[in-house]
Amino acid sequence: MISLKTNSKGEYVPAPGLRTRKSSIYIPGQSEDFKVSRSKLTDFRKCPKCFYLDRVKGLAYPSTPGWTLNARTDDLLKKEFDECREQEIPHRIMGTYGLKDVVPFKHEDMDRWRDSIHHGLEARFRDSNIILHGGVDDVWWNVKNEQVIVVDYKSQASKYQVRPETYLYPTHKRWYAEQLDFYAYLLDQMGFDVAHTGYFYVVNEDGSSPGFHGKLTFQETLVPYDCKTDWIEPSVEEMIETLNSEQVPDGNESCENCAYVRERETV
Ligand code: SF4
Repeated sequence: MISLKTNSKGEYVPAPGLRTRKSSIYIPGQSEDFKVSRSKLTDFRKCPKCFYLDRVKGLAYPSTPGWTLNARTDDLLKKEFDECREQEIPHRIMGTYGLKDVVPFKHEDMDRWRDSIHHGLEARFRDSNIILHGGVDDVWWNVKNEQVIVVDYKSQASKYQVRPETYLYPTHKRWYAEQLDFYAYLLDQMGFDVAHTGYFYVVNEDGSSPGFHGKLTFQETLVPYDCKTDWIEPSVEEMIETLNSEQVPDGNESCENCAYVRERETV
């Protein structure tokens, strides 16, 4: 994809290739607190080299357009759930899937937890200077056992119906699962009793309508997922070691971007 740099007026400007915000750049060995988001930990797990070039060397990765339609379904779901949250009643999907005793969690920090840019769920990693954070889509509450439940909304367009048993089969969906793991871990670190099972609220447009007619029609499926958090601490330890190293780590040989750059040098 060709990504051109624009300024705030939408005019094309020379792309600097480097980030300027100092607080987003880690100096190996620093003792000041440094925030690492869920998506940056995912970057590290996909490619330690790219993570290092970004967080330590300050390289600006080419920007990508926003997923505005996906963001819109998230916003609309949030409105629905907030209505139920306010009234402390179950959302219709909870009834459909027989989730007895579950309601959207009413908590004063809910809006902060959903704000992935400025806040999110947040916890210091052990006694390190690393603050882990991540903006969760939703948190539900089991009124009976007083456990919190992590939830992620997903929008997609596939002609195949979503099946909970196979939803996470495709390789790239491993990262979806890790998202829920991470939120479950943070909530646990924040002192909540976290339910083992979280949910993906998947909305799928299967394209079967006879035409557009000004609307898209989505089918809704709740996919349960048993959170696994045992990978998180070893991975964060490894990430901290990388941040404190002067050595640029190896890249990921499956990365198409690096392969492109490599081949470009040969033509
Ligand atoms: S392998 Fe890909 S992800 Fe890693 S440094 Fe290269 S471009 Fe970045």
